[in-house]
Formats: sequence, structure tokens, C-alpha cells
Amino acid sequence: MPDSKYDIVVIGAGPGGYPAAIRCAQKGAKVALVEKENVGGTCLNWGCIPTKALLASTELVAKAREAEEFGVKITGVEPDWSAIQARKQKVTDTLVGGILQLLKANGIDLVKGAASINADKNVSVETADGAVTLETDKIIIATGSDPAELPTFDFSQPAVMTSTDALTLDHVPESLIIVGSGVIGSEFACIFSTLGTSIVMLELMDRMLPTEDSRVAKQMRSTFRKQGIDIRTETTVEEVLEYRDDGIKVKLSSGDELEAEKLLVSIGRKFNSAGLGLEELGVEMDDRGRIMVNERMETNVPDVYAIGDVVGGILLAHTATFEGLVAAENATRGDAAIDYSVVPACIFTTPEIGSVGLNSDKAAEQGIEVNVSRFSFGALGKALAMGEDYGFVQLVIDAKTDKVLGAQVMGPHASDLVHEVAVAIKMGATAEDIASTIHAHPSLPEAIMEAAEASHGKAIHVAPPKKR
Ligand code: FAD
Repeated sequence: MPDSKYDIVVIGAGPGGYPAAIRCAQKGAKVALVEKENVGGTCLNWGCIPTKALLASTELVAKAREAEEFGVKITGVEPDWSAIQARKQKVTDTLVGGILQLLKANGIDLVKGAASINADKNVSVETADGAVTLETDKIIIATGSDPAELPTFDFSQPAVMTSTDALTLDHVPESLIIVGSGVIGSEFACIFSTLGTSIVMLELMDRMLPTEDSRVAKQMRSTFRKQGIDIRTETTVEEVLEYRDDGIKVKLSSGDELEAEKLLVSIGRKFNSAGLGLEELGVEMDDRGRIMVNERMETNVPDVYAIGDVVGGILLAHTATFEGLVAAENATRGDAAIDYSVVPACIFTTPEIGSVGLNSDKAAEQGIEVNVSRFSFGALGKALAMGEDYGFVQLVIDAKTDKVLGAQVMGPHASDLVHEVAVAIKMGATAEDIASTIHAHPSLPEAIMEAAEASHGKAIHVAPPKKR
């Protein structure tokens, strides 16, 4: 039974909530953390980590199949889905165990059950042993998001899946329709296409990865096509013609009919704010249930903060964590404000995509005059040695000041490489600063240095334009 009086109650133990709880405890507050499912939230249990564990397995499969190109003979490469799933679960369990230890070490009471907030701003929790009330001075809401569903589909049918269902499939489907070509849909396309699933991906907009830089999205589409993924843009499912136990038949907006064993809906997320008692408390939300907050992560109700996916904006684990730390600081008499100017966003497809700051499309929209400078991995020794010479680094540089404003990386370790540019943007570095920093050879970050040099027409490994 938890204590009944706390300084701060955090609702939701995802990557937003549990770091917020720990930071509050580090600052001397008495903290309860309420979680209705597993600590780690979507990220650890149904999102970032399980997908990356599956991708680690499928990338190994792909690499093993290419082994002969590296002079290594591997015969009988055979992915074992149940073993892949077991490894994924082990990774998740290890991380969940680590969080439980951290909570204990920081003296945080973990209360298992669904929370709601009373009119007197205390928190009620429906635990397995009955309802408890946690008296508290302050509340941080970190209830995250769930997969958004489309009314076109009946999610009780075995063929229709959310991303959470796709993570726990008991076998690899023979065929899969993916509705939505955003980050989550694209990562699942990579996982299952490597395992032999035949995939059709549908996208309502005129290009896949609609929120990415247009050049990146275009090149990714051609890569996906080479991997055998059939991408149909400006297309969606008009109606379901048939649900079967072993499949689904749909009619597309193009008029085509399509059958598959499974259909994954990955069209975005819905905010988890219903049932928390927020309307009664007068917490301001938009018409989609997103909780409105200021830069201190305060809602309009005093002493009630909200963070992470449930406040919308950038739905990423690291943003949730940073918002959590800002809320924790402010809830413990500190003074912090969130800064979204540098948020790396990564897509763990093959090849990976990492982007940060401004891209050329956004620069044009905002009327900022920029130089866009690229360097191709095809000209980089390390990338060739690794057999991963596909893609490029693209730097977006202020044409007047030479300051680096953004980067898009598509290629090997893009999710790691983008962080060099993130620090450069944060420090206000110029392309010259990057170009004049000695980078180790042979290494992938040399591509960033070369792109910076190229912006001044000085890249060593880029041929100058032909003289007429
Ligand atoms: P969540 O992680 O959703 O946690 C909220 C928690 O609150 C949950 O545990 C929930 O059970 C609990 N909760 C909800 N309501 C209540 C209640 N009433 N009482 C008690 N507990 C409650 N992001 C990345 O940065 N990188 C990635 O690679 C990445 N991959 C992803 C892959 C997939 C398939 C998905 C779905 C998401 C991915 N994300 C990724 C997004 C990332 O998972 C989320 O942005 C992040 O988890 C949001 O954190 P959060 O703490 O706000 O919410």
C-alpha cells in the first residue's frame, strides 16, 4: 500500500514520466509514479526498443545474405521468428528491470493501476487490490499516446493490426498491406520485407515519408522499390470487401482490389487524455484531446503539468524525456523552459535516415536563404569498405552567416551521424567550423566534414564542375 501524501504524483511511466519522477526525487521531492501497464511505456514495450531489436535481427539476416560479397560463405541463413521475438523480449525485459531498480533506488513509490485526477487535485488509482487515493501537491501527466485507428477497419478482426499487434505476431505473414508510409510503417516494411513478406504500402499524400525532406523521401522510395516493397502514393483503402480469419480483401481509392494476410494501420497516434478527469478539472485540451501546455510544461491549471506524446508536437521518446525534465525542474521550485530548436529525428529503415534542424523545404517555406551542400557516401572510403555506400549527407547552411541550420543524413549510421550536426547547430557553429575540424580517417563522419567543405567549393573528394 503506497503512502497517501506526496509532493508530486507522476501519471504514466514512459520515457517522459519515469525520468520526470527520478528528477523530482533527485531534487528531494516525495514522489509516486502511477502506471497501468508496464514501466517504460510505449517506447520500451511497444515502440522504439522492440522495433529496434527486431531490426537488429533482420539487418543481420540481410548482411548474412550479402556475405559472399565480403568474401565470406554463409550457407543456410534462416531467420527464426520465435527466437527473434524471444531476443526482443529479453532486451525489453532487461531495460524494464533496470527502470524498476532505478525507481527503487530513488525512493519512488510505483503504484500499479489506472489513475484519474479528482476535483480536489488528488489522484485516484484503481489498483488490483482496490482503489487508493494519493494526496499530492503537484501532478505531472505523462500518459502518452496509443495507435490511432481508422473507422474503415474493424480492429477486432484478426487480419487488422496496429503497430502493437505487429510486434507480437506469432508468425511472419506471407503478405502485408501497410496503410501509412510514415516512420512506423516504413520501419515495419523493412522488418517484414527482409523476412520474406510481400508488402504493399499505401500513402494518402503524394510521397512516402511526407514529413521528411523531399530529396530524402524520393531516394528512400527508390530504395524501398529495389527491396521489392510496392509503394502506392495518393492511394488509400476505400472499403474492406472481405474479412477472413486468414486475410483481408480491400478496395483501393485507385479502384484496384488487393488481398493480403494482414493489414497494418500506421497512420499516427491518438492522445491518451480521456478518462483522466481533465474536463472536470478544467484542463485545456484541443479537439483531438491534446493537452495544452506552455514552455514550462504547465497546463492552465496551477500545479498540473503535462509532458510527452499527450501534449502533441514532436512525438518522440527523447522529446518526452526532455519535457519531463523541464516539468520536474519547475515542479521542484526550479525554472526551466523547453527548447525545441534542435531535436534529432531518426528513422531506422535500411538505410537509416537522421535529420535535425531545418531542411531545404522548410527553409524555402520560411524564406531563409540557404546553401544546401551534399556529400555522397559513394565517395567515402569507410562507407565503401563497409559495403554501405548508399545515400548522402546534406547540410543546410545559412547563406549569409555560414551557420549550420540543419542536416539530413541517409545512409549507414545516419542516426548516430546526425548528432555531430545537432551539437554544431546548438553551439551556433559554421560550416567552416566543421570543415576545419580534423575528422578521423576512415570514418563515416568524414562525410559531414566533406559536405561542409563542399559548401565552400573545397571538398577534396568531389570533382569540380567542368570548365566550359
Ligand atoms: P508513453 O511511452 O506512451 O507512456 C505513457 C505511459 O502512461 C504508458 O505506459 C501507459 O500505460 C501509461 N498510462 C496511460 N494512461 C494511464 C493512466 N490513466 N494511469 C496510469 N498509467 C497510464 N520514438 C523515438 O524517439 N524513437 C523511436 O525509434 C521510436 N520508435 C517507435 C516505434 C513505434 C512502433 C512506436 C509506436 C513509437 C515509437 N516512438 C519512437 C515514439 C515513442 O515511443 C513515444 O514518443 C514515447 O514513448 C512517448 O513517451 P511518453 O512517456 O509520452 O508516453
